[in-house]
Amino acid sequence: MALTVINASLDGKRINLRAEGATIQALGPDVAAQPGDDVIDAAGRAIVPGLVNGHTHAAMTLFRSYASDLQLQEWLEHYIWPAEARLAAEDVYWGTRLAAIEMVRNGTTRFFDMYWHPEAVARAAADTGIRATVGAPLFDKGAVAGIAGLKEAALESLAALAGRGPLITASLTPHSIYMVSEPSLAWVAEQARAHDVPVHLHFCETIREVDEWMATHDERPTPYLDRLGLLGPTTLLAHGCVMEPDDYALVAERGATIVTNPVSNLKLASGRIFPYAEAARHGVHLGLGTDGPSSNNSLDLFADLKVFALIQKHAAYDPTVLPAAEALAIAQGRRSPLLGGTPIEVGQPADFLLIDTDLPNLTPGDLTSNLVYSSNGSVVDSTVVAGTPVMRHRHIEGAEEALAEVRARAERLWAR
Ligand SMILES: [Zn+2]
Repeated sequence: MALTVINASLDGKRINLRAEGATIQALGPDVAAQPGDDVIDAAGRAIVPGLVNGHTHAAMTLFRSYASDLQLQEWLEHYIWPAEARLAAEDVYWGTRLAAIEMVRNGTTRFFDMYWHPEAVARAAADTGIRATVGAPLFDKGAVAGIAGLKEAALESLAALAGRGPLITASLTPHSIYMVSEPSLAWVAEQARAHDVPVHLHFCETIREVDEWMATHDERPTPYLDRLGLLGPTTLLAHGCVMEPDDYALVAERGATIVTNPVSNLKLASGRIFPYAEAARHGVHLGLGTDGPSSNNSLDLFADLKVFALIQKHAAYDPTVLPAAEALAIAQGRRSPLLGGTPIEVGQPADFLLIDTDLPNLTPGDLTSNLVYSSNGSVVDSTVVAGTPVMRHRHIEGAEEALAEVRARAERLWAR
């Protein structure tokens, strides 16, 4: 079925939009609905591109508020990893379903995920109608199965994600350079090229992690990754906080993307605010992520966008650093070809939001400034992904069932 949106405001002008299949086919004041179209009246609504959550572990909604306020390693080793060992594929499905519903409610149209049971993540994303790039966390250090186990998990993940429909793409997701050996990382680079998939990993997140690395290596993490063939246009580096100016220059030269996760970094006090001004000076491709809902604890990228903009101004002691339009473009995935954010234009994917501009917190003034400094996800009235309204006037199919499932499953998983 085709979708026609009427009476929307785009850059201050009243327009109608018609999407056929997953693509915007027509845009303008005189575009009319055709017989049989699904029609949304968007009077009082502005149309803007959807947000792209560049790094998360969506199913960790199952652990939201579980063991808060601990040191990162204690939190992982004593709480999260033992609880994750009890996870079944259906837990991951429902955890991701709830996450996907929350993301759609808050204006996210695509997310990049790293989590167990990737086939369940993909199924939950597809059932919700949100785009997702998915992979299983890969590691061999401390793992009984070693390199052979990592290879098996990687190939299983790729196979499980094939043919999951147009919204789902596969990625290879080695956890980090400290959890994966050098031969395995070199193998991942080879496989990523052979299968033409992106590589998504945690990278230089904390001062402690980089200090420990440098105590046992004479090569910095960034040139190391480059030497292994893992730094290129299809590399997504989550965090990238603790890097030197030369490292950002190399990341920019290779065309890799850094996704910053300010709220997760602040909550875990992981050591350093992402040096946006330095990365931007070199022209690094950038994105914004929430990280998992167990370390954030929400999946509201509009809320995180405000934090991102504010801490960068604060850190630079300069309010002109990271203007609102630039911050919003980063959150929309439009400052990284890999994140794939798209504008609202004919021929582009029909991925967009309708924003309720009659809300008190969006009145009066400039929409971009209000979206960054005066919003959270509740300003989103409707979310359209690939031409399908997945949230219509704040209603999402299946939300009640997902809430009940996650409540029941969390109760079992949290029992120690
Ligand atoms: Zn993460």
